[in-house]
Amino acid sequence: TVQHQGGNGVCFYTPEMALAASRRTLLTMHLAHAVQRNELNVVFQPIIEAKSGRVAGAEALLRWSHTNLGAVSPAEFIPIAEDSGLIVSITDWVLEAVADQVDRWHGEGVQCGRVFMNVSGQQFLRGRLTTRLAELMKEKPHLAGLIGIEITEQAAVRDLKATVQAISELASISVETAIDDFGTGYSSLSYVQQLPITKLKIDRMFVDGVPHNRKNSALVRAVVGMAHGLGLTVVAEGVETLAQRDFLTDVGCDLLQGYLFSQPVPPKTLVILIGDQPDSWKSSPRIGSMVP
Ligand code: C2E
Ligand code: MG
Ligand code: MG
Ligand code: MG
Repeated sequence: TVQHQGGNGVCFYTPEMALAASRRTLLTMHLAHAVQRNELNVVFQPIIEAKSGRVAGAEALLRWSHTNLGAVSPAEFIPIAEDSGLIVSITDWVLEAVADQVDRWHGEGVQCGRVFMNVSGQQFLRGRLTTRLAELMKEKPHLAGLIGIEITEQAAVRDLKATVQAISELASISVETAIDDFGTGYSSLSYVQQLPITKLKIDRMFVDGVPHNRKNSALVRAVVGMAHGLGLTVVAEGVETLAQRDFLTDVGCDLLQGYLFSQPVPPKTLVILIGDQPDSWKSSPRIGSMVP
């Protein structure tokens, strides 16, 4: 199909594009009711302290399950939520769900460390999140130190000044901000260094290749070294193998997260994992050659 768009701009639509557009429309339509129809839930992936193998915290990840469409991946519906504005109510919902869960765990004496939720760039700078978190911290002071926010590197450097402001405000109410997907945003550590953050998450893309891919390995090693030089804690995402775990521990990654330890799981399962961490979660110490 050829469509004329005024002037001499001509646009070609393929059947695939039409199909993708109708899927988007369909998802947007259904997503608008997801909160109200109780179709959302949050799962938690443990974040492991590399040296001890202990659960040091968790990342909250959103799940959407629709009666007819089944499970839709956040990689697909989050961009749709962002474009349609639905992200505002969805972020509100996630925040309440995470705060509720952390509150409940605190009451039950479950020590899960800090729980990080993901926030889209636009939502992070809007101020609504900080306001609500400040309210929550006032109502429930015991939540202090137990909630964190992840924003992507890309979102963080888009408006550096506003991001610095938002991170500082959150820090003042003891909400920690971590930079997610580091390495995929085409910015440099010297740029990120201007942010008052304490934690950097190296994207799965780089973790994938270690220890066999020499370039990825060199990159991870360099990022960890520089991040530590800047006083930042480093988390490696997407750890799937023992070889990756050992390499990452050896180069000094502080925290590890990935399917090797656990998939994102429902709250009850996370509590079981916290109470009973397998020995294999602890990295076997290396002698000699692997140590930088
Ligand atoms: P992310 O924040 O970088 O989250 C990490 C993603 O990697 C998650 O995918 C997680 O399930 C997956 N993952 C963890 N370990 C492994 C591993 O060892 N191997 C592989 N292959 N994957 C692993 P998920 O849950 O599908 O989420 C995808 C993205 O959707 C997230 O990436 C985040 O950007 C976004 N997202 C998820 N929940 C939310 C939310 O509540 N709000 C916002 N704004 N975005 C969210
Ligand atoms: Mg994340
Ligand atoms: Mg990530
Ligand atoms: Mg990601």
